[in-house]
Amino acid sequence: MGQTGRVSQRIRMAVRVEGIVQGVGFRPFVYALAARLGLGGLVGNDVDGVFAEVEGAPAAVKEFLLSLERDAPPLARIERVTAAPLVPDGCTVFAIAPSEPGGTRRALVSADTATCADCLAELADPADRRYGYPFINCTNCGPRFTIIRDVPYDRPLTTMASFAMCGQCAAEYHDPADRRFHAQPVCCPACGPRLSLLRPDGTVVPGDPLTAAAGLLRRGQVVAVKGLGGYHLAADAASEAAAAALRSRKHREDKPFAVMVADIDAAGRLCEMDAAGAALLASARRPIVLLARRPGAGLAGAGLAGAGLAGAGLAGAGLAGTVAAAVAPRNRELGLMLPYTPLHHLLLREVAGPIVLTSGNVSDEPIAYTDADALKRLGGIADAFLTHDRGIHVRTDDSVARAVRGRQTLIRRSRGYAPEPLGVRTAFRRPVLACGAELKNTFCLAKEGRAFISQHIGDLENYETLRSFTKGIEHFKRLFDITPELVAHDLHPDYLSTTYAAGLSGVDLTAVQHHHAHIASCLADNGADGPVIGVAFDGTGYGADGTIWGGEFLVADLAGFERAGHLSPVPMPGGSAAIRQPWRMAAAYLDAAAPGFPAGLVPAGVAPAGLVPAGLVSAGLAPAGLDVARRNEADWDAVIQLARRGVNAPLTSSAGRLFDAVAAIIGVRDVINYEGQAAVELEQLADPAERGSYRARILPGPPLQVAGTDLVLAVVEDLAAGTDPAVVAARFHHGVAAVIEECCTVLRDERGLTVVALSGGVFQNLMLGTEVAARLAARGFEVLVHSRVPCNDGGISLGQAVVAGVRDAARG
Ligand SMILES: [Zn+2]
Ligand SMILES: [Zn+2]
Repeated sequence: MGQTGRVSQRIRMAVRVEGIVQGVGFRPFVYALAARLGLGGLVGNDVDGVFAEVEGAPAAVKEFLLSLERDAPPLARIERVTAAPLVPDGCTVFAIAPSEPGGTRRALVSADTATCADCLAELADPADRRYGYPFINCTNCGPRFTIIRDVPYDRPLTTMASFAMCGQCAAEYHDPADRRFHAQPVCCPACGPRLSLLRPDGTVVPGDPLTAAAGLLRRGQVVAVKGLGGYHLAADAASEAAAAALRSRKHREDKPFAVMVADIDAAGRLCEMDAAGAALLASARRPIVLLARRPGAGLAGAGLAGAGLAGAGLAGAGLAGTVAAAVAPRNRELGLMLPYTPLHHLLLREVAGPIVLTSGNVSDEPIAYTDADALKRLGGIADAFLTHDRGIHVRTDDSVARAVRGRQTLIRRSRGYAPEPLGVRTAFRRPVLACGAELKNTFCLAKEGRAFISQHIGDLENYETLRSFTKGIEHFKRLFDITPELVAHDLHPDYLSTTYAAGLSGVDLTAVQHHHAHIASCLADNGADGPVIGVAFDGTGYGADGTIWGGEFLVADLAGFERAGHLSPVPMPGGSAAIRQPWRMAAAYLDAAAPGFPAGLVPAGVAPAGLVPAGLVSAGLAPAGLDVARRNEADWDAVIQLARRGVNAPLTSSAGRLFDAVAAIIGVRDVINYEGQAAVELEQLADPAERGSYRARILPGPPLQVAGTDLVLAVVEDLAAGTDPAVVAARFHHGVAAVIEECCTVLRDERGLTVVALSGGVFQNLMLGTEVAARLAARGFEVLVHSRVPCNDGGISLGQAVVAGVRDAARG
């Protein structure tokens, strides 16, 4: 064919884009792109996403298809683009087609997103009509999931419904060339929400709310601030007195507070960051990022090693760019986040220093997100409320993340991530609901190739969280048009989530063992099917044999598992009391390690015969390190008796309880104030420079048994020899890592499996997780770790969903 024939040649293509492509500025993007390339045609929304027809020169159409994915708007998450040829009709104009009625029902809802650079520029521009306006947003940023009441995602079905757009906002909203085209929360000072500052009695503080709130913060007061997914409590992060007041009023004794800093530079003054950490911090999802503190940046005394630093000379220092010791006691890390709403940006600028920004709740209750509830529950904590009249529809906590070896690791997947779906390898034959775990609950609704994991619901142990759980499930069912036919739940018969599942009618139920769900979650996170050696180390999970598991080596795929190894079980004296009081686990482990303890541990000739710990201790003969018995002398013998008789002392192979026992023996703590605290502080204590390790025997199986008591004995002997507790803590960590490596190697030899999946909350322990992954990799294993969902119980719902799905597919 001659050259002239090609010049005038036109083609027309039907294009379909699936993924998160509605409510994110996709149609204006397509419109502008087509206009730039001189293409005719149209673009519109329908039930599956965005459809377009483009017509023009072949090169231009080709460029259009390339740009579609490459240059998509920041909030778009394209899952699939397909194109099919059509007959050209000579069309040269490009138009936006009206949406089909009900057309957005199956489309995906975007997560809430941090204020974009364009909006920030307007926010800071005195000539802009939205200058200093705390609710500025556009199609590329702002609230989404937290304001959506129902689908289709349209303003009347959001909490913006009561704000009628002014003429200027309406013009922007309807202009395809505008950045605010079809941005549902678009508004301005003339027509949108307004800030107010309230006293705890609900009366209005006169004057500019933002300036006044910043003034209160600078004077050391606690201010409740309404955010995207709920209320925060804010305080001057540099003020020892303010942080301490917030702690005592919240009844939060030790758990670290998150800190919001103005920008990356401010973050860099407090913490050390690699490129991945900085990218995570600055990402539009804006999680709280756990980062290593810079030496001298207000590091509080780290447990035994540095006690006494706390508070020294810092009280009243004000907003000096350091962080008060009371913000994150005994922790080498600090949880930082950057502002993610215009209100945060304005507040941080006004305060001119880092602020504590912690969840608006008392103790472990769910965060307050309605105005009335916030005033009621936080009235005794906050000195004032910086609030506004845009409603929050869905309570959504901040997400928490960490960059590990250059890779994102989520500790809590919530605001900024939910409800974005995760793709799975094997499509679900029937729609699935997975009810998740008891603690750190999330649920998951899944259909076809997608799993929609909920925001963080919390611990399902009070009415309020259970209500979030049941309401949340109904909300997700509507939003994503999923009617579950298959319901997965934990094996534990008494969990509220199990009871909930059992109460549903017209569905098939599947029980999924807790640690199998962990490993399946890790597989799904990595797009893998198994079989693998699954190492599931966590606190508590109901085992297939009715005991409490938690230090498990499973040979598992998505459909099933075999318990190939585990920590040797020990009694948990007092049941859940042993979780709150790690010294009880110390007693159980010591008694299991050396029956008759402490007699068996005391050098011959030193120990009086037939002694009880109290007698030994009062005689001044207890070797160093056995102080745990002395500290808990009053109840020690009774607890040992509970353990021996097996009365209210269920057996557990939990790795979390082993860490608890060692933490108590070393003297880190006997009683915890938040879940996992003893283990967290044990890790913080451990000397990073120490290379020595303890050795635990592996008793032949199947299933193999790891003698945790060997590690406990080694700890005691080292302490008795006067070894530094920080060194002992490190050697214990290395010992656990070494025995995991050894166990995996034995299983590889037996089963021929070369892939290991690591899951369970214990792997949030950075020292342990990093070492285990490195040791296994050095041994030639392929190591799967989590990145898209947490390794803790927040990831359980995904695991349950894929297990249910694969079992269902096998039946079908
Ligand atoms: Zn924006
Ligand atoms: Zn307006």
